[in-house]
Amino acid sequence: MQQLIDGYKRYRSERWPQLRKLHEKLAGGQQPHVLVISCSDSRVDPATIFDADPGELFVIRNVAALAPPYELGGGLHGTSSAIEFAVTGLEVSEILVLGHAQCGGVAAALAAPEKPTTFLHHWVALLEPAKERIAHVHDDRQGALEHESVKTTLQNLMTFPFIAERVAAGKLTLIGARYGIADGGLEVLDAESGEFRAVE
Ligand SMILES: [Zn+2]
Repeated sequence: MQQLIDGYKRYRSERWPQLRKLHEKLAGGQQPHVLVISCSDSRVDPATIFDADPGELFVIRNVAALAPPYELGGGLHGTSSAIEFAVTGLEVSEILVLGHAQCGGVAAALAAPEKPTTFLHHWVALLEPAKERIAHVHDDRQGALEHESVKTTLQNLMTFPFIAERVAAGKLTLIGARYGIADGGLEVLDAESGEFRAVE
């Protein structure tokens, strides 16, 4: 806790004076244009990577940066409810699915769990279709599944009716990307070719 308090004090004395005016405006409401779905991994912070101020990015972080398909069954749909709010409440114009290298969630999906967990192995089982698509890959299966995971989440997002209809109307764009933890590189998915290309 002391680490957090010390950090808060630095924020309050150094950063807050710069952000005060912005926050006075933001107190009236948020209008972010981008929803980012990112991993909970401590090394992948969208606001840092995209040099974004408070109010710019609406962020969902979960294990492996996944979205489930649209489904209405029982259960508490944390990720789906945040997606619904961002799209139908905030009317964001872009959704970025941000995967990353060395993703522990993707590694968990690749490994057969020795001890099934209560929640985690069910969640990363969302990557089963992606695993089937990389069945022929023998080198760097982790990297291949990280790429395929982003594509799978983009496909899952399109099963939400309120997303599909906005994409069809040209009001919403879906984007996929993968961030490199070791080198800070960003690869963006080219929707036409299905290939990831490095941002220069
Ligand atoms: Zn991760």
